Amino acid sequence: MVNDIRLVDGWANGARLCASPHFNQRPDNEVSLLVIHNISLPAGQFGLPYIDQLFQGCLDIDADSSFCDLVGLTVSAHFLIRRDGEVVQYVSCDDRAWHAGVSSYQGREGCNDFAIGIELEGTDDLAYSDAQYQQLQQLTLALFEAYPMLNTDSIVGHCDIAPGRKTDPGESFDWQRYKRGLRP
Ligand SMILES: [Zn+2]
Repeated sequence: MVNDIRLVDGWANGARLCASPHFNQRPDNEVSLLVIHNISLPAGQFGLPYIDQLFQGCLDIDADSSFCDLVGLTVSAHFLIRRDGEVVQYVSCDDRAWHAGVSSYQGREGCNDFAIGIELEGTDDLAYSDAQYQQLQQLTLALFEAYPMLNTDSIVGHCDIAPGRKTDPGESFDWQRYKRGLRP
């Protein structure tokens, strides 16, 4: 399911809209970094509604015993790409989503200020799906077009901007395969 993705006013057409209240304004209106993450809720389980719920601030805490750790957490990302390739958008790319946490890139702290966060539904050790790579590449190219400061050198993993604290997207993410698909 490859969609034709295009950004209009910070929103990707071709994505399913699932608006999150967890965002605020970018202090400098700068978008110059792309951060790749992974997430699964519960850990290692896919296709469930809990990621949407978490980012929307309405997680059903009773649905799984592991969710008690997530009580009161106000987080979001701009995008989630599910195992089947579905792209979900929670926050406009023009706004600041809350995905990076305590982080630093080339000496600058607080990467949320200037980053776009893309979550891949997955884990650090399970291969991502072909559909996820295809959609991630399409989405990335659309973001390059909409935000001229983004390019293949301004893409990092969460692990790169929060080392020691975060490991995603993990060993399972094939950076070479991803970046090969971004060449013109
Ligand atoms: Zn992450």
